[in-house]
Amino acid sequence: MNLWRELRWRIVGAQMLVVVVGVTLVLLMAYLGAQFIVPQDIAARAAALAQTGAPQAVDAAALEAATAELLDVFRRSILTAVTVAALGAILAGLLSSFYLAREILRPLRQITASSQRIARGHYDERIPLPGSEELAQVADHFNQMAESLARMEETRVALIGDVSHELRTPLTSLDGYLEGMLDGLFPANEETLAVMYQEVRRLRRLVDDLQTLSRVEAGQIELLLAPFDVRELATRAVAQLAPQAAAQELMLQAELPEEALLVHADPDRTSQILLNLLGNALRYTPENGRIVVQVARSGRFAQITVADTGIGISAAALPFIFERFYRQDPSRARVSGGSGIGLTIARHLTWAMGGELTAASAGPGQGSTFTFTLPLARRE
Ligand code: ADP
Repeated sequence: MNLWRELRWRIVGAQMLVVVVGVTLVLLMAYLGAQFIVPQDIAARAAALAQTGAPQAVDAAALEAATAELLDVFRRSILTAVTVAALGAILAGLLSSFYLAREILRPLRQITASSQRIARGHYDERIPLPGSEELAQVADHFNQMAESLARMEETRVALIGDVSHELRTPLTSLDGYLEGMLDGLFPANEETLAVMYQEVRRLRRLVDDLQTLSRVEAGQIELLLAPFDVRELATRAVAQLAPQAAAQELMLQAELPEEALLVHADPDRTSQILLNLLGNALRYTPENGRIVVQVARSGRFAQITVADTGIGISAAALPFIFERFYRQDPSRARVSGGSGIGLTIARHLTWAMGGELTAASAGPGQGSTFTFTLPLARRE
């Protein structure tokens, strides 16, 4: 029965039906002709001949006429058999073709109609799965495509909403300051201008991040992959942020393997990821905390870990921190200037380089650990 679900077996079956009906009818008619029509005629002829006299009295002309008549009966019965068989085969052919056409065309028509509806923006369109396996597969793929289009549309709408929301806050602040200055409520002094400058910088950072985000999400970031030692990169990143760590009274350390660990990745992008993780660690770790960068080998990957003793991440927030614009504590992040897309960018960059970025935390106040992997460079 399973075979019947495959379209090709239905097509073969339909063709076979025509052949079987045709052959059966030919055989049946030939049998009926041989059993009933021809013998009856022969019997009738023989009886007629018997009445005309003794067999030796049958003249040649009468014999010839009888033979011709018998042949004629025989031909006619053959012709009838073939005609009935042909008509039967035509009927079977027509029926099976209509059935097949309906089987194939109905889902195709549905796909055509649904794709037109999707083109008009109805992304919730789905088509029912037809009985045959092949067409069910087409329909299933079509539905999957419709679903991912719906998801993309949802993301697009959400993104526009998020972006306008993100832009509105600094703009409202700038608006307020400018209006206050125009009304003479605020003096246009260095202090006010500094605050406004901060807001403009925040806007600028946000716009830059958004551009990077759109590029990484579209897979349009150009990567310059080359073998390099991750230890050196980690050392440099730690050295770069050491003054900031010292200013915040944080201990920043690197734990590196003794031997070089060559990865095949983009050094600039790797550095961007690491600086982002370290930046977050500095931002979310209170005074006297400790931040450790660890580099180790793990199978065919190099594993870079940034662990801090900071505010930690709740189990509820953990699954969302890589989503764009997600902030565990919006008010706090706003003060610190976080856009909430740093981790989204970092994760896409690691993915693009063939690695993975994950986060772990034992909970609020328990610190956080971010780990990313990069494929090791192949040894010659
Ligand atoms: P942001 O610019 O707000 O830091 P990210 O995408 O870098 O944006 O981070 C998203 C959110 O993840 C942050 O708002 C914060 O809630 C959480 N987070 C990231 N790093 C840490 C960390 N080291 N400790 C605690 N929370 C963190």
